[in-house]
Amino acid sequence: MIIVMKHKATQDDILQVASEVTRAGLMANVSEGAEITVIGVIGDKSRLNSDAINSLPCVDKIVSVTESYKLANKKFHPDPSVIEMSNCKIGGKELVVMAGPCAIESKEQLFESADAAKAGGAAILRGGAYKPRTSPYSFQGLEEEGLKFMQEAKARTGLSVVCEVTSIQAVNTAANYVDMLQIGARNMQNFELLKAAGKTKIPVLLKRGLCATIEEWLNAAEYIMSEGNPNVVLCERGIRTFETSTRNTLDISAIPVIKAKSHLPIIVDPSHASGKKEYIASLSKAAIAAGADGLMIEVHPNPKIALSDGPQSLNPEEFKVLMEELKIIASACNRTL
Ligand code: PEP
Ligand code: MN
Repeated sequence: MIIVMKHKATQDDILQVASEVTRAGLMANVSEGAEITVIGVIGDKSRLNSDAINSLPCVDKIVSVTESYKLANKKFHPDPSVIEMSNCKIGGKELVVMAGPCAIESKEQLFESADAAKAGGAAILRGGAYKPRTSPYSFQGLEEEGLKFMQEAKARTGLSVVCEVTSIQAVNTAANYVDMLQIGARNMQNFELLKAAGKTKIPVLLKRGLCATIEEWLNAAEYIMSEGNPNVVLCERGIRTFETSTRNTLDISAIPVIKAKSHLPIIVDPSHASGKKEYIASLSKAAIAAGADGLMIEVHPNPKIALSDGPQSLNPEEFKVLMEELKIIASACNRTL
């Protein structure tokens, strides 16, 4: 449930109500918004004297939250969350683009990709050091060596860096090198991994599982947040449907649905959604028009020789052209890029 405070409630009032909640052995999550302050309550509500709280002059009303996810719920945090990175903010007026290769293949390949990402106007460099490949015989990633290249690419360009982590050990290693941890689609319900990412305070990019409902996705975010890490960004990357002309089906409706149910920012990955570079521009434009807070796009200096996901990767020139086109859509949606 949430306790909605009256406009005139003071800091002392808020503290008093929050301590009432914690005294009863429940967790109080205070969200002070531009319009209203709400106190989200997590735990066994029968231990709380709700009638007494409801009758306090500083309390407007008590609303029950039926959804199983609480911290990720918009009712708990009515204002949109903005995730602060060192060089950008995700979830504000400015759209954030993450660009880079599917996999880090070498220092040279990563540096060329980083330069292309920067030249096109991306704020975050992506690149996989631990690759969750369908076949165990496919290139599995450079692991810690790749993370070191990422750190060097950051120093070279000033871009923030994001890397996927596929194990708890990788979380602990990557935490020393990157600005954002990515939990991939295949691990969206790897609860031990989610908890490990939640124990860090590093922003987490949580991709939607291949067959996950929006509710399951938000519960996965809840696993991270309930460990004390509120810095979660969601990424719609297409879901598996009967359609085979694209690698996955981009669920564009996930954007307004997430905006209605959660305060967390959401970005879209048109590369993994489509699997084909020809469709990336259309899907990117649709994502921005539908209200996404940014994009994740695979960019490779020479997609033809990429060790993974070449067919869905843009080359530097194509990325630059796309970014110019997206500026027009962004401005039509009252966003900047
Ligand atoms: C990726 O971004 O490199 C990736 C593997 O994506 P997904 O988890 O969405 O398949
Ligand atoms: Mn990929």
